[in-house]
Amino acid sequence: MLQKVSLGIKDIDKYRLLLGGDLIDEIEAIAHDLKDIRICHINSTPFGGGVAELLFSYIPLVRSLGIHADWQVIRGDQRFFTITKSLHNALQGAEYHLLEQQTKNIYLGNNQKNAQELDNNYDVFIINDPQPAALRHFCQEGNAKWIWRCHIDSSDPDEETWQFLRPYIEEHDAAIFTMDKFVPPDLKCSRIAAIPPAIDALSTKNMHLPKAEVCRTMIDNYGLDRNRPLVIQVSRFDRWKDPFGVIEVYKLVREKVSGIQMALIGSLAGDDPEGWDLYAAIHEEADKYEDVHIFSNLQGVGNMEVNAFQRASDVVIQKSIREGFGLVVAEALWKETPVVAGNVGGIPMQMVGSLSNYLVDTIEECAEKVVYLLEHKEVAEELGKEGMAHIKNNFLTPRLIRDELSLIRELVGA
Ligand code: UDP
Repeated sequence: MLQKVSLGIKDIDKYRLLLGGDLIDEIEAIAHDLKDIRICHINSTPFGGGVAELLFSYIPLVRSLGIHADWQVIRGDQRFFTITKSLHNALQGAEYHLLEQQTKNIYLGNNQKNAQELDNNYDVFIINDPQPAALRHFCQEGNAKWIWRCHIDSSDPDEETWQFLRPYIEEHDAAIFTMDKFVPPDLKCSRIAAIPPAIDALSTKNMHLPKAEVCRTMIDNYGLDRNRPLVIQVSRFDRWKDPFGVIEVYKLVREKVSGIQMALIGSLAGDDPEGWDLYAAIHEEADKYEDVHIFSNLQGVGNMEVNAFQRASDVVIQKSIREGFGLVVAEALWKETPVVAGNVGGIPMQMVGSLSNYLVDTIEECAEKVVYLLEHKEVAEELGKEGMAHIKNNFLTPRLIRDELSLIRELVGA
């Protein structure tokens, strides 16, 4: 059997206070039509990265609607996850020439084995990202509906990789992308939807924490100076997140802002073997500067600590080069912390209006915007407020649940 992630139930009604009743009423009406339906999300890691983050909140909230929802995680060895990380990178546009027959066999063999071990007693499967994308091919029995959910920017994929994966994806009944422009033009799937992800405002990662006491004390505990400006980036150690670019930004900002401190907060995920090498390389670079710090789950940085760091920072950077959505942008804005971020993928939809002035293409531009916000506290404060309102209106989990359950209702004809 595949690992089922052990989760409870989380009352979606608590969102009524925050979002008003209409959306929750609408969701409950959809859920009523789906009450006998069994839904299962499948991905490749129970921790680390945006998909795990999403499912951790999404499943318990859906359960509170009376729907049977589970989350199963596929297994694989190091070779499989090295290949799937390359497939992930290739879907985001990196060239990938290693798609030899042996590589394909390892990918397909692992999917086949996982398909045999899958608890298939569900009406709807939602398959997240490329790692389990061939499961459906090996699970032909039953009447379940299958949805492929793509979390990455697949608008310009490596052609060979895409043509390898495309037939497996096309066996699904529907495909969900974060935005229309991520849909590769030759994908033939009877239902294609654009549904952006969302963050759970009530989770440990995003719940309110008193800034003056809790957050600043946490900062002290990590050896930072609460009286000096702090800029952070929170990301997996991944080259698409441009960690070395962030250190370059630090070097430029410190010429203008004395006492600036920078922290790169990262996590290492089970399905990301590349992350460990990158972690070592980033550490080596960061160690050259007294005020550049690296913190990770290895030092106990969990959801609460990320929450505190996002609240205590003067500016959050997300200098991505490619980005599916970038939950971290929504997380920081939700906390009214201003964000300077790469103008890529799903980030611009989170930074509209004045926020869009802080979308950047280069290290220099990024440093310039960070300096501006550090020197103009009132602008930073306004930006944070605008960001919070935008996230509240568009990117909280109930909206995601409504959109996905509506699609499921359509597919199962309930
Ligand atoms: N995250 C975390 N600790 C870390 C680094 C990241 O909890 O040290 C979380 C972060 O808060 C966010 C998720 O991992 O919820 C990353 O999601 P995002 O969509 O930004 O990027 P992805 O990793 O999916 O590319």
